[in-house]
Amino acid sequence: MKALVLDEIGGEYRMADVDIDVPIGREVLVDVKASGLCHSDLTASALGGWPVPAILGHEISGVVAAVGPDARGFTVGDHVVASLQSHCERCPACVRDDINMCEKPGFVARPDGERPRLSLGGIPVTAVAQLGGFAEQVLVHENNLVRIDRPIPHELACILGCGVLAGAGAVLNAAEVPSGATVAVYGCGGLGLAAIQAAVIAGASSIVAVDVSDEKLAYAERFGATERVDSLATDPVATIHELTGGGADFVFDFVGRPEVTQQAYASVGRAGELGVVGINRPGATLEIGIGPDFIWNQVRIRPIFNGSTNFRRDIPRFVELFAEGRFKLDELVSRTVTLAEVNDAYARMAGSVGRTVVTFP
Ligand SMILES: [Zn+2]
Ligand SMILES: [Zn+2]
Repeated sequence: MKALVLDEIGGEYRMADVDIDVPIGREVLVDVKASGLCHSDLTASALGGWPVPAILGHEISGVVAAVGPDARGFTVGDHVVASLQSHCERCPACVRDDINMCEKPGFVARPDGERPRLSLGGIPVTAVAQLGGFAEQVLVHENNLVRIDRPIPHELACILGCGVLAGAGAVLNAAEVPSGATVAVYGCGGLGLAAIQAAVIAGASSIVAVDVSDEKLAYAERFGATERVDSLATDPVATIHELTGGGADFVFDFVGRPEVTQQAYASVGRAGELGVVGINRPGATLEIGIGPDFIWNQVRIRPIFNGSTNFRRDIPRFVELFAEGRFKLDELVSRTVTLAEVNDAYARMAGSVGRTVVTFP
């Protein structure tokens, strides 16, 4: 099958004919129909951390082509979306349904001693995050898949595999924003836009979008933000305090820069909550005054990993919301390309709004 292979860390992807094995055990072979270009694949390609050659791509929608003898949840022809939430379903975290905290995510890998799932000229090929979606097919453990019973276009379904869930999950699962709350969102990229939509679903009374890009702020309004703040032109902290009458009940930071996290913290009102989703650089710090106001204000800080999602519960939920017209996915996909165009598409990604998706015939 054709796949984009990364031969060296920091290099470009190269089209290659990769051998893919047949499913064993609980594995499922999927014909990939759409594969989203997430920014984190670009970061991963530059940083590495796994053996090359490797195949990246982790936002996958496709159709089951074959199932292993022990796979329980899937049959040929099922519409599926993949997730990098690898989990074992047996550890204490999995048993309490908190698969984000799984202690044995390596459970989904093919056991040592078996043939590799993927190979190129006899050399094993790494499927990054056990997925490897920049390819015509993926061979994955069934625990990395969810079935979509109400099919929607693959190029929309695939983006549910990663950023959309993390952004919306921060609002709905982690913070559990109640109806009537005031919300502010720092950073209106894909995650921020999903969070804004989730805040609408939660019934937030006002949603303040903060960004430095006019284009992203315009998107934010289309997705339900009630106010927009260009943080280059206006002080976002003072503006949020003014708009919300003393600070927002829930503030989400999707940016991952210490100065923004600082502003986001200062934007929270009394007894409110800061949700930190954007990942800051190692060693970054947040400075918090702990004088009398610290106790008086009772502001909580919640770091949120992956939107506290469980992809098997949440992906079908967002498919339903999309089908009911309550969650926009089509507006999040700005462009479709072929597998051969991925390098170019990544080069043009900086600053663009919306997802680029690879589609397959
Ligand atoms: Zn991603
Ligand atoms: Zn587990």
